[in-house]
Amino acid sequence: MIQLNNINKTYRIGEFDVHALRNVSLEIPDGEFTAIMGPSGSGKSTLLHILGLLDTPDKGSYRLQGKEVSSLSGEKLAALRNEYLGFIFQMFNLLPKLNAKENVALPLVYSPDPGNRNSSAPDELLKRVGLGDRINHNPNELSGGQKQRVAIARALVKNPKVLLADEPTGNLDSVSAGEILKTLHELNDSGITVIMVTHEKILAEKANRIIKLLDGRIVSDEYTSAKPPKRISDSAEITEGPEVHGFALYRIRNYFIQAMKSLFSNKVRSLLSILGILIGVAAVIAMLAMGTGAKEDMKKSFASLGSNLLTVRPNWRKFHRGAVESGSITKFTIADAEAIRKIPSVKRVSPNVSGRGQAVYGNRNWSTRVTGVTPDYAYIRAAEPTEGRFFSKTETLTRSKIALLGKTVATELFEDEDPIGEYIKINRINFRVIGILPEKGATGWRDRDDEIVIPLNTAMYRLMGKKFVDYIDVEVSDENEIETVREEIRELIVMRHNIPADKEDSIEVRNMAEIREAVSSMVKTFSWLLGSIAFISLLVGGIGIMNIMLVSVTERTREIGLRKAIGANNRDILLQFVIESVVICLAGGILGILLGIGISLGLAEIAGWVLKVSAGSVILAFFFSMGIGLFFGLWPARKASLLNPIDALRYE
Ligand code: ADP
Repeated sequence: MIQLNNINKTYRIGEFDVHALRNVSLEIPDGEFTAIMGPSGSGKSTLLHILGLLDTPDKGSYRLQGKEVSSLSGEKLAALRNEYLGFIFQMFNLLPKLNAKENVALPLVYSPDPGNRNSSAPDELLKRVGLGDRINHNPNELSGGQKQRVAIARALVKNPKVLLADEPTGNLDSVSAGEILKTLHELNDSGITVIMVTHEKILAEKANRIIKLLDGRIVSDEYTSAKPPKRISDSAEITEGPEVHGFALYRIRNYFIQAMKSLFSNKVRSLLSILGILIGVAAVIAMLAMGTGAKEDMKKSFASLGSNLLTVRPNWRKFHRGAVESGSITKFTIADAEAIRKIPSVKRVSPNVSGRGQAVYGNRNWSTRVTGVTPDYAYIRAAEPTEGRFFSKTETLTRSKIALLGKTVATELFEDEDPIGEYIKINRINFRVIGILPEKGATGWRDRDDEIVIPLNTAMYRLMGKKFVDYIDVEVSDENEIETVREEIRELIVMRHNIPADKEDSIEVRNMAEIREAVSSMVKTFSWLLGSIAFISLLVGGIGIMNIMLVSVTERTREIGLRKAIGANNRDILLQFVIESVVICLAGGILGILLGIGISLGLAEIAGWVLKVSAGSVILAFFFSMGIGLFFGLWPARKASLLNPIDALRYE
């Protein structure tokens, strides 16, 4: 039993109020077939929408089965629509990407009762409306009449008490229209209340009762002689439906299935969105791997060096900045190194020169770095040879032509042969190989095993023609003495070179710990920089997702309206759209993680860079892409969920 009392509905268009319904009072007992007629704009649809709980009146009372429903919340109205009402529209409103059966089953998705969801009702209903052989057809493979029959089956799937039809035959030829009407009458005979808006007199005349509207008022309300009203005793008062617990697992599962269906029905669009996130995540993973790799590599390089190390070198920064006035740069000699050695607390001293050289063995050629050092180098720089021996002090002083090869050089020149004892040429001078240096690995882009080490004096006087050393490594015996020794070295050099007080900064004595700090802060900056570039690309991907979701909401406005009409509440719509965007982002995220790991491994393998994918970065990328999905999906989803079902259904 439907009871309306003094229902009013006013729309405001600009300055004007349009009174769509004025003081409409009406009772429709259970089991009736009522036709609502009237000229266009008379308020028929508005009345039907209020009866169907799709719209709320401004004023007046609406009792459905004895229960006042005009002031219920949106969520409760949605549950009532799902439970008690069935809708049939002039435009059918089938979802084009779902087949007949899936369309019919749609209201079950929003059923508050989980027991209903596996119902075999859709098949039976389709058979009942004569579409048993069209169960798996999509709407575009059906005629207008068939589409409307699918819509009727959909309206019936939850066994509604009331069927509301808005010009159900308006878009059909007369034969199909006749069939639809016949079906509606059969349904009415089985006890369902039918309320139908129509402007065709012949259709209306077959009803029990015709209500005519004009300018929002009921102008006539008559029973016809065509069919005696079928009185059935009013059923019990409606319940508001079980409270919907939004996070019940089966509902989440339903949202997920709906989201997947719509993603699969827009494959290209979904793939492109996934690609956006994929590239971002892959970049983040690879960049972070680069940063972590650089950090670890740096640690490894420094680990072999004692922390009690000082390096004395000309201040090249000053050299570059200030114009090169003579004497503004201090160059060191072997004698300086010997003087430093005499400072108490200095344990070892190793002056170094380095340059490039062309190494030749047989017909093999290799350009490499050549470093001239003293025997202390082996201890200070952890370079005691793995095979053969290091040279002695005497060999250094006598400018012996002997060399130790880094692993890379040994492999390039000798392949599998044993180089020890063989002669190679460095810049056309013969050297005897006496040892192989321990493997050091690569630092970022630089291969530290691509090196030949020879005695300092040989390098300076025979090979490079240098009078000065490039820098001097000094090992201090006690960590606590470092600062003192550093000052002593500075004073010693100032004295030895007669450096005027204002030029004292032309020499640089650096502590290894300082260097380590400088390098590590550089590495950190570098990782942040890489990371933020990658992050920006991820953000762009996220904005792409938002864009697509907004387009999708607009495009699917009618679908949203329909879903709401058959019982979806705001949260159902919100979650469906959020899940769509999260699924896209997670798919992109997971593929991106795989690609990122692939890129990192590839670069490490091909370019020899040190990259390290940390578990942390993978977890971060995973949750971050999920977060992006949530963050950028939420606004479009909210926009969709807040659509008014009527406006959405009317959207063109
Ligand atoms: P009918 O279905 O009889 O053609 P409607 O119920 O659709 O009439 O409309 C009744 C009146 O209310 C019309 O004048 C129409 O312009 C107005 N109206 C309906 N819906 C809206 C709306 N969403 N916003 C503004 N005016 C509306």
